[in-house]
Amino acid sequence: MPTPKIWKIALLPGDGVGPEVIAATKSVLQVIGDFYDHDFQFSEHLIGGAGIDAVENPLPQETIDACLASNGVLLGAVGGPKWDGQKLRPEQGLLGLRKAMGLYANLRPLQVSPVMAHRSPLKKEIVEGVDLIVFRELTGGVYFGDKGRNDDGSAYDVCSYSIEEIERVSRAAFKIAIQRRGKVTSVDKANVMETSRLWREVVTRIHAEEFPQVELKHALVDSMAMHLIQRPRDYDVILTENMFGDILSDEISVLGGSIGLLPSASLGSGGPGLFEPIHGSAPDIAGQDLANPVGTILSAAMLLRHGLGLEDEAASIEAAVAAVLAAGATTADLGGELGTRAAGEAIIDAIRAIH
Ligand code: ATP
Ligand code: MG
Repeated sequence: MPTPKIWKIALLPGDGVGPEVIAATKSVLQVIGDFYDHDFQFSEHLIGGAGIDAVENPLPQETIDACLASNGVLLGAVGGPKWDGQKLRPEQGLLGLRKAMGLYANLRPLQVSPVMAHRSPLKKEIVEGVDLIVFRELTGGVYFGDKGRNDDGSAYDVCSYSIEEIERVSRAAFKIAIQRRGKVTSVDKANVMETSRLWREVVTRIHAEEFPQVELKHALVDSMAMHLIQRPRDYDVILTENMFGDILSDEISVLGGSIGLLPSASLGSGGPGLFEPIHGSAPDIAGQDLANPVGTILSAAMLLRHGLGLEDEAASIEAAVAAVLAAGATTADLGGELGTRAAGEAIIDAIRAIH
């Protein structure tokens, strides 16, 4: 027997429901490690409010070091009313970590199963079968530009993008498109914004030079917001800049009916990625074994796929989740009766049944 490959996975439970969903997900990963003979080495670190409470630091240096030395980071959630109005803010921990890890692309997949389609605010016929992924650029654009107030009381935010910033996120999106249905829709506002005209030029060039086999379309963000509601099934990979991605990601997150189900990944240049559910710390249900762990479990599948290159292992988690949801074994947010722990165990049982 070859010795199993060692993978270091840094767990950051954080605040609110974070520790509960991370615990359930760790159990799933342990079972996957056993089945596929991987040596997953887990370590847990402080972030957010948990860091403030324990060591008066939302992002201890020890956490940064451990994350950078890992093969992938899995985060629960940070924040909550407990730290409102305090000088140290839990969110500083997450923002600082994203910066320290050099994360430049945020990925949010959405697959709408028949069960989810029933809960969607849109008609079942429109959303059932949706299978798309949003690639949002994370380091540039108007959020990071110079901002301020003028003497006359007016205010400004500068939007700027470098060619390199657009190139690297485009390459990442085209690469993923090749593994999917081979279609990229690049979203901008090139009819009015200069950064968008540059965006369109660079995406078009990277496509022609490096990924001609992918089908590339361009869309304006306003019509895209409309089309995502009218015909979301048409899209495969959606590539866009920081602010447009922020807005479209939230729009897309409601199509699937429950915030508790959706995963995300943020990728860095060469270093490890950061994987987390899209939901927040959900203080209203924290500590009660009520949170849906699926968003975090699917984030772990993304960690295996995009962070460690373990496609079969990721697919086996996703198949187990699909089977469990189809069988109606869900938490209260989806109308089921399972607690967080039991929902995780149902997924583990499904993984065992598949193997
Ligand atoms: P943040 O600002 O950190 O994004 P938020 O206040 O926007 O947080 P969440 O913490 O995600 O939002 O909570 C929004 C609602 O969704 C809450 O009612 C919460 O209970 C519910 N919710 C969030 N995550 C889950 C989950 N995993 N399972 C079930 N319900 C959830
Ligand atoms: Mg929020």
